[in-house]
Amino acid sequence: MPATADDLRGLHELHRRASALRDRLESGPKTLAARLRGLEKRKADLEAAREALKKRKAEVQRQELQVQSQRTRVDDLRVKLNTVKKNDEYKAIMSEIAMINKAISHQEDAILELMQGVETASAELAAQEADVARFASEVEALRSDIETKTDAQRAQLKELEAAIAESEAVVPEDDRERYRRTVRGKGDDAFAAVDPHTRACHGCYQVATIQAISELMNADRLVYCKTCGRILYLIEE
Ligand SMILES: [Zn+2]
Repeated sequence: MPATADDLRGLHELHRRASALRDRLESGPKTLAARLRGLEKRKADLEAAREALKKRKAEVQRQELQVQSQRTRVDDLRVKLNTVKKNDEYKAIMSEIAMINKAISHQEDAILELMQGVETASAELAAQEADVARFASEVEALRSDIETKTDAQRAQLKELEAAIAESEAVVPEDDRERYRRTVRGKGDDAFAAVDPHTRACHGCYQVATIQAISELMNADRLVYCKTCGRILYLIEE
């Protein structure tokens, strides 16, 4: 097996590892940004729920005050009853008192229902607050995890890039330009192994020519797949 085949295989492997690292370096901050957007949405929902609860409580208070003022009205009417002389007037006041009491009773039922709603909403809000707090701490953990790993990954990528530059010495001078163009265009997919027996390119599964295989064996220069344009190297046997 010519040395260059091994070197190209090694170069492919280095490109693969560098590409995987670049993906990871990119995906971390993307995931974090998505989570942060999710957190903002949850916080906004929480704020809306807090406001809604505040309004419900205010409504209970408003209705309780109404009931209070109606009771005062009833008290006043009862005082007035002691002073009336005419039976008609007496009856009218009694009927007004009965009407107000009925209204009070209705409103008290409504207040009771409102208060039950407040209780339910308070419990839901507490659960929602706990959920947002838990999510916020998860996002924070993710952020610090990414920060910790990023430095190590950047250093690793730098090492890989240096190793790639060094390994590129196996690319003959005349082939450098096309090699660079291919790698720029295809990244770590710029290479493909080829089986010398079946002559199948592992990139596109088309059969390479016998001449291409013999060129690869000679390893004087880079051999490209005629179909997919990948840089070929002989498969490990
Ligand atoms: Zn191919």
